[in-house]
Amino acid sequence: MGMAGNDFGGRLRRYVTAIAKAVMTPDTPPQIPEGLIAQITEKVTQKEAPFVSHLSRVRVTWLELEADRLGNTCFEMPPHEVEIRKRQRMPPGPVTVSLHPILVDDEKLFNHTLTHELLHAAGLTQHDTRHADLVDEISPSPKLSESPILQDIRDQALAQQEVKDWTCGHCGFIWSRTTVKAPSRCPKCARPFK
Ligand SMILES: [Zn+2]
Ligand SMILES: [Zn+2]
Repeated sequence: MGMAGNDFGGRLRRYVTAIAKAVMTPDTPPQIPEGLIAQITEKVTQKEAPFVSHLSRVRVTWLELEADRLGNTCFEMPPHEVEIRKRQRMPPGPVTVSLHPILVDDEKLFNHTLTHELLHAAGLTQHDTRHADLVDEISPSPKLSESPILQDIRDQALAQQEVKDWTCGHCGFIWSRTTVKAPSRCPKCARPFK
């Protein structure tokens, strides 16, 4: 159950894939911040989150460096079985939440992702408005200025936009960029490129 499926989600997946080799998996497993489970327990209802009393037993670990998502929640049974256990108020069995190691240096995005996954583990298995609202209430998505990862993604997106086209500063002619270096002349008006 990965993060958002919107355009940003796609960008995030490409980024996570690209950056994976640049980081190392920490020696110690991810730590659940103090008070987070209590905060979740306080906000959810028994009905929507029937596994909430089992949250402290959730195993938290790091994803493989090659993973293309920030977080994942894994029940050791098929989804329909999970739904049956929710209805019957039975324990969920072993649950593992995994986080991408790049999050180790991005506290706010770490907390945001962990909260997203812990809410799944508590029984809010759907990506619905209620799940999103709870994540935003408990651990809001970081602002750009608060997240090195989001800043990096923004920078890469800008860089990718820049490489698409050249525009002649004299005649306004636009052509596809095929070289890394700036062209010396405009192919249309032949004046020096600027
Ligand atoms: Zn999810
Ligand atoms: Zn020109």
